[in-house]
Amino acid sequence: MLDEVEFEEVSNLYRAAFRSTEPTMEARFASVSQAYERLTGYVGCHPNAVMHHRIAQYGPPCTACGKPLRTPEARYCAACGNVRQPPDASSR
Ligand SMILES: [Zn+2]
Repeated sequence: MLDEVEFEEVSNLYRAAFRSTEPTMEARFASVSQAYERLTGYVGCHPNAVMHHRIAQYGPPCTACGKPLRTPEARYCAACGNVRQPPDASSR
């Protein structure tokens, strides 16, 4: 699992890979897989799977600062500390 700082690094590499002039997808995204391996110890994870997996972990946006909550079940915002309101209380 990547924390916010680690994910930022990997996502920067992922974006850079799209601008790469390397001829193959493997070469373009090698830096992403290598960073993920270094951060997590997990070898050979497909770059798209790395990105999709992390994004899938996000919860809804924080009602105070708008950043995604760390998980769908998060009870407070990791970015600003705002305590999450129960869904049935915030909608009315
Ligand atoms: Zn927040």
